[in-house]
Amino acid sequence: MARRKNTKAKSSQKTDNASSINQKKFEQDNTSKLPKKKNSQMPDQQAEEEKSNEVVWKKNPTKYSDKIFRNNYMKLFIKKGSTDYHGECIYCNRDILVDNLYDHIKSGKHRNKTDKKEHDDLDGLIKDINDYGNLKKTKKELKKEKELKGNQNDIYNYLEFLAFGMAERFSFSQISKIGLFIKNIIKDNKAGFFKNQSFDEEEISLIARNCFQKSLIEDINKKLESRPFSLIIDNSTISKENYCVLQARFLESINNETVVTNKVLKIHKLDEKSDAKTMHKIIKDRLLSNPEIERNFIGIVHDNASSLIGKYNGLVTKLQEDKSNLFSLKDPCHCFNLILKNSLSELPKRIMKFVTKIHLHFKWPQRKAILSNIQKEIDQKELTLKPYIKTKVIKSGH
Ligand SMILES: [Zn+2]
Repeated sequence: MARRKNTKAKSSQKTDNASSINQKKFEQDNTSKLPKKKNSQMPDQQAEEEKSNEVVWKKNPTKYSDKIFRNNYMKLFIKKGSTDYHGECIYCNRDILVDNLYDHIKSGKHRNKTDKKEHDDLDGLIKDINDYGNLKKTKKELKKEKELKGNQNDIYNYLEFLAFGMAERFSFSQISKIGLFIKNIIKDNKAGFFKNQSFDEEEISLIARNCFQKSLIEDINKKLESRPFSLIIDNSTISKENYCVLQARFLESINNETVVTNKVLKIHKLDEKSDAKTMHKIIKDRLLSNPEIERNFIGIVHDNASSLIGKYNGLVTKLQEDKSNLFSLKDPCHCFNLILKNSLSELPKRIMKFVTKIHLHFKWPQRKAILSNIQKEIDQKELTLKPYIKTKVIKSGH
């Protein structure tokens, strides 16, 4: 109550008593709550007057132009003001910022200065101003709503893309690469083919074989013609089918750095008739028919299988017959595997039982976590058990 009394007292004072902006605002907000007096200095008028006197410089103030007129009647009393951003109310003889003009027109003071005959026109103008304000607001809201909806749709579609990649068991790195690739082609306006192409599996396979394969082979051949290389050969069983894989390994300079490069040369499906002769023919046809490649072929790495090293029918033996200085290296990974296998067989059975038991115990992640916690507590280096399996897992190493 005390505050209101104070306000009341203040509002009857001359407004040029410099009061703080907050106080002014408080007064403006509260004047409407005060009982209206019938004298000419009504508090709401005073508030309006203060409001239009305030120099409210917006970030981008509106310039005076034809666009500010809401109807022809407004043109009758609003003229260009002192600056590009001011209009003048002829009736009130006041220079007003364009951004504050509508408030001024709606004010009681302006109404008082307007001839009563024009009050209907003034009401019409105020209605037009209000309608324009509402329309502007609606447009803004609609735009915002549209933007928000667009953003939400984008986020939804993005998540759908990620979920698709994960469901297809692509790695995060693959999803990222595919995403960036598509992003770039859309940015470069090259995404039109998505609409027109069928992405048919058969067609993709044909393109790979008839189009990309040729150029890839040419590319590898050029490299093999120009530098020494060795060959890795190994057989593998995938879905009960046997395959023989040939891989070349050579040194290559990429971005001024010399790196070891591996390139698969051939994956050959083996049948029951496949033997060293078959593989020998594959290598001869694929590589040694080109004399320059033949010259650069310096070594072969293999798992020491009897089909490869057999004295009479072994593949390596046959290759060495063609090329006497060919270096034959037993794959160290296979050798290590053999060493471990033989070493383990020397251990007493109870020790192997213990090793197996320990590994079985720590198969569960919870138990691994308990072990690491204990190590952390006693300030020890965190060590965990490597999975122990009986078969070799490392392949094609030199
Ligand atoms: Zn006026």
